[in-house]
Amino acid sequence: MTKPKTPRTATHQKAPQAERPPAPLHRSYETPAAGKAAKGREPKRKPYPSDSPHPTDSAILGARISRRAADRLRSGHLWVYASDIEVIQTGKDDPPALLAVADNRGLLLGTALYSPASQIALRMVSREEIDQAGWLQLLAARLRAAIARRKPLLDSETNACRLCFSEADELPGLVVDKYGEIVVLQLLTQGMLSSGVREVCVRVLREELEPASILERPDPRIRELEGLAAPSLAPLWAANPAAPVTHNQFLLNGLLFHFDANAGQKTGAFLDQRANYASARDWAKRLGAHGQTDACGRALDVCCYQGGFALHLAQVCNHVTAIDSSRASLEVAERNLEANRGRLAGEVEWVEADAFQILRDWSDAGQRFDTIILDPPAFAKTQRAVEGALRGYKELNLRALHMARPGGLLVTCSCSHHVDWADLEGAVAAAAADAHRRVRLLERRGAALDHPVVLNLPETEYLKCLVLEVE
Ligand code: SAH
Repeated sequence: MTKPKTPRTATHQKAPQAERPPAPLHRSYETPAAGKAAKGREPKRKPYPSDSPHPTDSAILGARISRRAADRLRSGHLWVYASDIEVIQTGKDDPPALLAVADNRGLLLGTALYSPASQIALRMVSREEIDQAGWLQLLAARLRAAIARRKPLLDSETNACRLCFSEADELPGLVVDKYGEIVVLQLLTQGMLSSGVREVCVRVLREELEPASILERPDPRIRELEGLAAPSLAPLWAANPAAPVTHNQFLLNGLLFHFDANAGQKTGAFLDQRANYASARDWAKRLGAHGQTDACGRALDVCCYQGGFALHLAQVCNHVTAIDSSRASLEVAERNLEANRGRLAGEVEWVEADAFQILRDWSDAGQRFDTIILDPPAFAKTQRAVEGALRGYKELNLRALHMARPGGLLVTCSCSHHVDWADLEGAVAAAAADAHRRVRLLERRGAALDHPVVLNLPETEYLKCLVLEVE
């Protein structure tokens, strides 16, 4: 869920455009200097930063990083952790947004955005040495390329998507979502927080999309990690400045959803689940049509947020029960239900409850469902949290499997990058063994195509979605 999930992601079926690596950065990975270095020949050495222990104002600003970190960059990754910085020279004043980066021998590796307060201190934006003007040119070109990759995904049924997904689009810290005619920008790293970046984004977005308004939204968690100031709540740009559009309805797969930038808490949709909504609906219908069980009968959507899965299932199921612990989310879900009444075949009932508790109670009480969706929040935000997260996934899946009718559908998701496919499948298999059920894998799915996975950047893959038939 990117959801409003952020550096929440998604795998996949990939559109040809989404697969094509953004050219400039990747081409320059194999710079002559890097190639020679790999062969052990000593290229001309340009010291970054200055070797002097007391650099003067004219000293070259930059960071020198460990060999391990340099190897990671040469393999195509973009991050340098603070603990891998051996020497850093940032000048006396405000830390610069851009820093030259060199390996431990002083060989230039490129230019990075610098985040002084973050554990991820450097995020590469070029394999060459570039200045602010060069960076803003790159930003404009990459944002245009990112938008061009998304345009084929939009049609008369879907007018919302993620236009730019940070590192996956070679723009670390820049997330841009489109909700119909409203575009929402998130600047999630210190280096991205500049008036120059905002101006370029607004110009490119206006030229490419002609939106009604462009808003900037803060992400409180990331802001804390990066030590960022809160952005202004005024729109960055509005076609009608006297009455800027800040809320609307947008379309996903032909269904209407509400967006409200002033709703306080995180708003917007888990756009990364869009294709999985349609897939869950289609599988429920298909399994129901087998006749073994009425998979289109009763459906359960656990952690439903604003009703993405629930409303899609209500297109084919007689009755959908949707659970979430957030009342505010369920209130939006109810408004979304009202907006789509005429498009739905079944009833939807919203239940405000803790998923663990209610699933335990209902499975003990012998409740049965033909289709069950599990889409909990990221249980493991760090590697250390994985073990506890897997216990959580197993518990939810165990309860769901107890309640699944034979021949029914279980769609079970994890949006934690740190929980990999083997972890998730292991947790579900262990739950199935305990529940004495066999589960057949129908599909392994990821995030929608607007949240591309870059294989050199494993962190871009986070959302996993298993589509299972419960025997
Ligand atoms: N399926 C949703 C996204 C779910 S995001 C969609 O596609 O739009 C995770 C949701 O889990 C959030 O709405 C959050 O409120 C809810 N949640 C978190 N912890 C929960 C708990 N213990 N019980 C029930 N809901 C929970």
